[in-house]
Amino acid sequence: MRAMVLDKPAHPLQLRDVSKPRPGRGQLLVRVSACAVCRTDLHVVDDQLPNPKLPLILGHEIVGRVEEIGKQANSKFEIRNSKFQIGDRVGIPWLGWTDDNCAYCRSGRENLCDRARFTGYTIDGGYAEYTVADARYCFHLPDRYTDVEVAPLLCAGLIGYRSYRKTGDARRLGIYGFGNAAHLIAQIALYEGRDLFVFTRPGDVATQNDAKKLGAVWAGGSDEMPSEKLDAAIIFASVGPLVPAALHALAKRGIVVCGGIHMSDIPSFPYADLWEERIITSVANLTRRDGEEFFALAPRVPVQTKMETFALEEANTALNRFRAGELKGTAVLTITG
Ligand SMILES: [Zn+2]
Ligand SMILES: [Zn+2]
Repeated sequence: MRAMVLDKPAHPLQLRDVSKPRPGRGQLLVRVSACAVCRTDLHVVDDQLPNPKLPLILGHEIVGRVEEIGKQANSKFEIRNSKFQIGDRVGIPWLGWTDDNCAYCRSGRENLCDRARFTGYTIDGGYAEYTVADARYCFHLPDRYTDVEVAPLLCAGLIGYRSYRKTGDARRLGIYGFGNAAHLIAQIALYEGRDLFVFTRPGDVATQNDAKKLGAVWAGGSDEMPSEKLDAAIIFASVGPLVPAALHALAKRGIVVCGGIHMSDIPSFPYADLWEERIITSVANLTRRDGEEFFALAPRVPVQTKMETFALEEANTALNRFRAGELKGTAVLTITG
């Protein structure tokens, strides 16, 4: 099969003919039709995340069709009882496997599993014609979306949703960095009646206008203070200095949620900005429950996605344009029709 392979961080992916993976017990062999490109993919390529599997097939926002269900020899039972059937559409997310056994898994926090494996990072992902995935961590996807439309929801949507849920019942919600995840979560926040405050790069009036058009009550630069104090802020940009900036914009008991896997260092700030029970937290990975909740909610809003499509062999172009901030929506690789 054709795959785009990362041999070494800080080097372009190589188009290569590799052998088609074979599904083990409980795994699905999936013919990939679309795979969205996430900022985490950039962090892996740019050597900002430790210890990726190498060589690696990136991609953890995968949509495809089940072609084969792995089983033990002579066991028809498992196929009949699988959550998926041959031909089903399936979504494969970042959380690829957990041990189901550590203290985190046993307390409903499988996103923090000590032995978790991650699609397109520590196991091969979807920048390829086929992939295998543990069926227990795959999702059925809402019918209203095409493969290309739904792919960006599998990470920007799911991990964005987890970040959003951490803000509890915050009425005045700030979002720092208005990229793909922010755009999806803003739609849910507005649907749920939150007042939305959007912070962009200073001077990015075009994005501020987009945010207002979507329904934000206020939009401005990240160097500005909002028109009201915030009950919560989510930071989607990987820029550490935004943490004290967001903290400074919070009302008492407010929370700052860092939604990314990587961020530059956070500068020091006065304790007075944390005082009065303000909270800083991060969000790591996702649980299957996040996915089930999000995929039930998204079609009701309905959350709309913006995409730019690329062929599989154009993955380097997609990554380069993402890094340069030149994309108008989430890059989605379209792989098999
Ligand atoms: Zn675990
Ligand atoms: Zn991602």
